[in-house]
Amino acid sequence: MDSILLTASFMNTPSLILDKFRFCTTQPLIKTLLFYALTALILCKAMGYGSAKGIDILFIALTLLLLSVMSLSRYLLVIPYILLCALYAPVGGIYGPPSVAVVSALLQTSSAEAYEFLHTIPASCYLLPTATLLMLFVLAQFVWRHTISHKSILSLSIIFTVLLVVRIAGSGLENIKLPNFFLSIYSSINQYRQQIAVLENSSMVMPDWVVTPVAHNKGNYVIIIGESMRRDHMSLFGYPLQTTPLLDNAKGQFYNNYISAAPNTFESLPRTLALSDGKKVSIADNVITLAKAAGMKTHWLSNQGMIGEFDTPVSKVAMFSDSRHFLKKGDYESRNTDDDELLPLLGKALQEATQGNLYVLHLMGSHTDFCERLNGEVPFFNMPDRELNCYLSSYRKTDRFIARTYSMLKQSGSPFKLFYFSDHGLSHKTIGGARYLRHGGNTRQNYEVPLLVLSDNDQRHQLIDSPYSAFGFIDLFAREAGINISYPAATSATASPERTGRQVYNGYEMVDFDQLADDPPALL
Ligand SMILES: [Zn+2]
Repeated sequence: MDSILLTASFMNTPSLILDKFRFCTTQPLIKTLLFYALTALILCKAMGYGSAKGIDILFIALTLLLLSVMSLSRYLLVIPYILLCALYAPVGGIYGPPSVAVVSALLQTSSAEAYEFLHTIPASCYLLPTATLLMLFVLAQFVWRHTISHKSILSLSIIFTVLLVVRIAGSGLENIKLPNFFLSIYSSINQYRQQIAVLENSSMVMPDWVVTPVAHNKGNYVIIIGESMRRDHMSLFGYPLQTTPLLDNAKGQFYNNYISAAPNTFESLPRTLALSDGKKVSIADNVITLAKAAGMKTHWLSNQGMIGEFDTPVSKVAMFSDSRHFLKKGDYESRNTDDDELLPLLGKALQEATQGNLYVLHLMGSHTDFCERLNGEVPFFNMPDRELNCYLSSYRKTDRFIARTYSMLKQSGSPFKLFYFSDHGLSHKTIGGARYLRHGGNTRQNYEVPLLVLSDNDQRHQLIDSPYSAFGFIDLFAREAGINISYPAATSATASPERTGRQVYNGYEMVDFDQLADDPPALL
């Protein structure tokens, strides 16, 4: 008997809730509030806040409702705001709320790139702006036609004020999604302007180069800058797995004892591509200005970031080049673009080439997260360590990239030289009991990177065992390109090693490379 009663009351519960819901939704004020809440939910997504909390939605809903009461604020604030969200929605859906990366993408994107962006975003991203506009239509047609009683407005204003005070006291105004959206736009534009100003100011400095003009240099010079590649993980230099199958048998010069200047991109590359005594860098005396002084046209094609804490130091060198193209407009993490996307850009530049040219191609190569670098490609290796599989497979991707660049240069018919080096290596770190390859500065392998020079007339595969350092890269480049530097004196590519030992910049000071710890690869 009891159980029958219990079942009956259980069966009644849903219909009771339904009745209550029906009662609520037939109340005009509740209905209005629900419309605003739905609008607020869609606007949150459009502004790029995918995981907005209930309190944010309630806050936006009440703001919209209260501002819509007077037609002046409705037309001047509410409608423009919703339209702005509809415009921002395709970006917000993919990249999230406004950031320096988003702002720089919006400000730097050419019309061709914008077209490509709109063309390649998934169709689902068009749903968001459509839904935003639809809600504006619903508000105008069904909600704004009914007036809300003064009593309701007063009580909603009180709720709104309490909510606002509690939220500001709890986490500050900037953490509420609606003001955060506008504050982020403002601060991102500001930061973007500051970083661009830093770049532009540094490129105003005149280089000091005095070089002997190269007679009739019509060659193409390509410098491919790799990322996080350790020399000892390349089959080219003896690793047991085939990580560089194409380079393994290529003709050219392969430097077996070359070290990077520093253990991370933003400290290594300025010291490699510009003259440096270790701590200080003469940013204007760089490989780009050297090539220009020698009469070459210079091009910078990058799959890394243009602005951002870790990107601007390299971009300072890029700023000197005659033409620049960054696949990523913000920092190196702003979009997961594929290195291979640089190849058509190089192809186009080669077709238009007339005089001698220098092309710098800056790759994402083997940067963490390694599996992301494969852009959906299945890892070539299939060992228990998934991360290592991806890391080693990214080597094969770079190997293929170098081979493709080589054949493009060969096809162009002009004499050429192709340089490839990695900006730094990595070292093993134990995290939660497992071993990972990460940035570090205390082992030799953080600096032991590949350097190779391929040209149109190489006859054999030549291993070069003498010690070289990235601090002498400019000197090496100048020799290979037949440029005679009279002033300023570039660090010699080879002179110092035997006498004083090689120094590297560990991020704080110059240290003796040979004194650093050993961190051998797992498979050797
Ligand atoms: Zn790096």
